[in-house]
Amino acid sequence: MKIEFKKVQTIEKEFSIKLNSVEFSGTFCRISNKLIKLNSTIIGKIIVECCKCGEEHYINVDEYQDFILSDGEFSSLSEREGEMIIEIENHIVDFDELLSGELESIKSDYHICDSCQLNNKEIDIEY
Ligand SMILES: [Zn+2]
Repeated sequence: MKIEFKKVQTIEKEFSIKLNSVEFSGTFCRISNKLIKLNSTIIGKIIVECCKCGEEHYINVDEYQDFILSDGEFSSLSEREGEMIIEIENHIVDFDELLSGELESIKSDYHICDSCQLNNKEIDIEY
């Protein structure tokens, strides 16, 4: 789903897209000439790699994420805590791209599969 930056209105609008088994939904609205606020939840299952054995496994994702979308370069003066700032190119807001960016950052977190977690516990008991 894509929307032109200048067509986003100041009234909150709902959105919802799905990518594989992940649902990305929430509201968005314009907060200034060059900024859009987007409140979203990301819910579903994604495949991640275990950082110990490299085995792929599913994890449940249930995240709340606020975004500030900036049309072009963002001035860091107005940055607030807990918000993800995304600079938009070509004046087009691309929801699929936002979601895949979020999923990539979740995937790059530290993940351990069930069997490595079990092994860890066994080692702990030995000590
Ligand atoms: Zn593992």
